[in-house]
Amino acid sequence: MNAIQKNELIEGKVIDLTHEGHGVVKFDRYPIFVPNALIDELITFKVIKVKKNFAIGKLIEIKEKSNDRIEPPCVYYYKCGGCQLQHMTYQAQLNMKKEQVVNLFKRKAGFKDTLIHDTIGMDDPWYYRNKSQIPVGKNNENKVITGFYRQRSHDIIDMDECLIQDQIHQEVINKLKAWFNELNISVYNERKKQGMMRHVVIRTGHHSRELMVILVTNGTKFKQADILTERLRQHFPDIVSIKQNINDTHSNVIMGQKSYTLYGKDEIIDMLSDVTFKINDQSFYQINSIQTEKLYQRAIDYAELQGEETVLDTYCGIGTIGLYMAPKAKHVYGVEVVPEAITDAQQNATINQFKNTTFVCGKAEEVILKWKAEGIRPDVVMVDPPRKGCDETFLKTLLELNPQRIVYISCNPSTQQRDAQLLAQQYQLTQITPVDMFPHTTHVETVAQFERL
Ligand code: SAH
Repeated sequence: MNAIQKNELIEGKVIDLTHEGHGVVKFDRYPIFVPNALIDELITFKVIKVKKNFAIGKLIEIKEKSNDRIEPPCVYYYKCGGCQLQHMTYQAQLNMKKEQVVNLFKRKAGFKDTLIHDTIGMDDPWYYRNKSQIPVGKNNENKVITGFYRQRSHDIIDMDECLIQDQIHQEVINKLKAWFNELNISVYNERKKQGMMRHVVIRTGHHSRELMVILVTNGTKFKQADILTERLRQHFPDIVSIKQNINDTHSNVIMGQKSYTLYGKDEIIDMLSDVTFKINDQSFYQINSIQTEKLYQRAIDYAELQGEETVLDTYCGIGTIGLYMAPKAKHVYGVEVVPEAITDAQQNATINQFKNTTFVCGKAEEVILKWKAEGIRPDVVMVDPPRKGCDETFLKTLLELNPQRIVYISCNPSTQQRDAQLLAQQYQLTQITPVDMFPHTTHVETVAQFERL
């Protein structure tokens, strides 16, 4: 039984940070997690939840401040659910992300000889998102608002500025908000499941600067479509595509299955390094282009390609990594479970005139067995699974294929660590680099190199 009571006010020193960026205070060995508190700070907090193995505190006062603490640049920071680390200096964020990887791999899993590099950050860690998905709603005075959801809720906070999305997106959304009000646009009400305009989704080619605006509506008939299209074109010459996406599902999913082009092209293009990609309204495309290039460059370095290798790009999305590697390899085989992404990958291979790529739709764990049966013997395997990590069958087949090198990109280092332990039977985990793909949020992305023993 612990002595800590709900509503109690407690003073304590923060000794650690969780991977969510919450401060940890310990009494005996019982941890209390306090959001927004930083390591080394002496704080007063109110206990708001008491559980068997931990408690949650609300920060009341900071008696001794950490040097890592800064005033969050965004005025909406403490309300919005988008960012979690703006109260820390950027360097402290990068250190925290590295520390998490060191903790998982060295302290917990005992990879003593693995080199863990510093987190690769951004020179200017703002305005990096090339895609924004902005909910549209109404306030109590019946005025149209656009913004972001409050933490853990679906209440929209009206915002005029977001510091992590491409600046042009804010200009477009602020104009649209004014026009929605002026033209009396019908706005979707989540509770009543009525109304038309639900979301505005904006995508930019970071390098090409091509802009796509997608109006997500509950239903097809939309009488102000022409006038909005005309005004968008007049005000924003970079817009090359305006689309309407129909979502009449009443679920939390942002976009529906069907889209129409209201103006211009069906897709935009962008470049990552020398490779060109077509992106439509539904395509999966990495959000932070500047960091994606750094991540892929590190992955290429880890692959150590000489030009004669057979490479597998598993969990390949629209084939970005494989296409990046194609000029440096003999042949690249990609696999991905989403059919539209494979169509994109094939088209992107054609646009770039690569003749040494094959993209297959299916589950990585099944397709890799098929490849093995066909006699494909990879030298290098790229792995980039979703948060849950790799399927065990997949890893076992990978061990049987026994490539010289495995390069494993992960958006969840704890499942990567689990998978690394299985690969360790046959591979040495030589090095890992964390890459900051989402500054000011708790997301950690890593790229790891495994060498055959
Ligand atoms: N490598 C890509 C995408 C990585 S995201 C890039 O860098 O852009 C992970 C991808 O794995 C997603 O596209 C998801 O659709 C896919 N995926 C999830 N489960 C899978 C499975 N069992 N087999 C193959 N692909 C899968």
